[in-house]
Amino acid sequence: MSSTIIGHWHEGAPWPGAAERRGDVYDPATGQVTAQVAFASGDEVDAVVAAADKAGRAWGATSVARRTNVLFGFRNALVRRREEIAAAITAEHGKVLDDALGEVQRGLEVAEFACGAPHLLKGGHTDAASTGVDVHSLRQALGVVAVISPFNFPAMVPLWFVPVAIACGNAVVLKPSEKDPSTSLLLAECWAEAGLPAGVFNVVQGDKVAVDALLEHPQVAAVSFVGSTPIARYVYETGTAHGKRVQALGGAKNHMVVLPDADLDDVADAAVSAGFGSAGERCMAISVVVAVDPVGDELVPKIAERMAGLRTGDGRRGCDMGPLVTGAHRDKVAGYVAAGVDAGADLVVDGREVAPDGAADGFWLGPTLFDHVRPGMPVYDEEIFGPVLSVVRVSSYDEALALVNANDYGNGTAIFTGDGGAARRYAREVEVGMVGVNVPIPVPMAYYSFGGWKASLFGDTHAHGTEGIHFFTRAKVVTTRWPDPASRHGIDLGFPQHT
Ligand code: NAD
Repeated sequence: MSSTIIGHWHEGAPWPGAAERRGDVYDPATGQVTAQVAFASGDEVDAVVAAADKAGRAWGATSVARRTNVLFGFRNALVRRREEIAAAITAEHGKVLDDALGEVQRGLEVAEFACGAPHLLKGGHTDAASTGVDVHSLRQALGVVAVISPFNFPAMVPLWFVPVAIACGNAVVLKPSEKDPSTSLLLAECWAEAGLPAGVFNVVQGDKVAVDALLEHPQVAAVSFVGSTPIARYVYETGTAHGKRVQALGGAKNHMVVLPDADLDDVADAAVSAGFGSAGERCMAISVVVAVDPVGDELVPKIAERMAGLRTGDGRRGCDMGPLVTGAHRDKVAGYVAAGVDAGADLVVDGREVAPDGAADGFWLGPTLFDHVRPGMPVYDEEIFGPVLSVVRVSSYDEALALVNANDYGNGTAIFTGDGGAARRYAREVEVGMVGVNVPIPVPMAYYSFGGWKASLFGDTHAHGTEGIHFFTRAKVVTTRWPDPASRHGIDLGFPQHT
């Protein structure tokens, strides 16, 4: 049993808390427990929120120039420490180092976007909206906001929200996944290095107890959540019932539609990259290839051939694909492989037979491919969140579109074709929040907003970009008339009209 206890970040410094309840943290490539993470109690969450509230009030009143200066410092600290952060991600999540660096890069881009927040925080001004009356608008911070993040992007997902919230003048309490908690503390160190005042960025480690304490806390004004759909729905319903603004991003089942005119070598490369990158533990992973006839017969062998060249193993050894995050998750995903066989899908490549380049006790499952998958099979109907790619065969574009639109999820999708008209139609007709045309993982840039439709997002606002600025601020409109001896009005009980 490891003696290292990963604690919280409170009042600008590491804070062990009482750590009466704890969880094990694993290195997924070895299967060994490397540390324990403290689980915050309700009282500990209260203490952190109270300090955040105090610090947030001062931060919200700090000049935009000074806040921006801190944002630039944070961005520079992330650049300086990106390799250290990536190593921490690989050690607890398992994804290969290059992929971890990529996640830091995409998070860094949001920090860079947030450096330009003053441009989006500007209000409008109308001179002489009415005679002698001017109107201006402003956006003000909410106060304390909570960010609750999943295991699969321990750096990028917090970074979708935290820099934007802080640039807008809020204080943040981050509750990271208990499976890979260390990255959150490295982010906290980066904020401290940047000169962010103590109490503006905070971390509470923990489980449902900490989440519930945040959802019910009267001083928490808003919650940004990312995780599985059942928990996203719960967070949305509980948070809004407690009067909070909530954006809760949920699970996914992303389809890649392949039309007969597509370049099938490009398609096979894209399907393998998007299906098995990060061992399929990405909310934007492709999990279903929708092959429009006659594509399937030629495409499936091309995908299988590429899969044979992938090396699964320890993410620190230059492998293509790492382990799954925990033993329990690996077993669950392997259970879906068995269920796919039972349901009658064709198992083309069986990842359960993988020979990993890593320790025997690592949480291994190799890339897996099913063909002739149909709705109604668990392997199609449920989010697997592992290295399992399913091919569904359909006879036409219309059948492909109907299949995608009938799915409960609506996070990401892609269409592969050389036909611009068909691609344009798909982008308009598909009921999904993020669409790629010959791009398998269409994650929006930081200055756009990230978010899905249907069961992939509860709430109205997507993450980062202009929508992020709006989520973390309240708008106010001020109507002003200064006394002017030339325009005295006297008493008028009528409803104000514009003259
Ligand atoms: P999860 O829902 O199990 O956990 C997410 C967060 O909720 C964690 O911080 C966890 O501690 C907390 N939590 C878990 N159970 C809870 C409960 N009963 N009550 C209150 N809080 C609880 O998700 P995960 O397994 O960490 O992450 C994988 C999921 O996240 C997948 O479904 C994936 O699609 C989704 N995801 C979605 C997006 C997106 O942008 N839509 C991005 C990344 C991940």
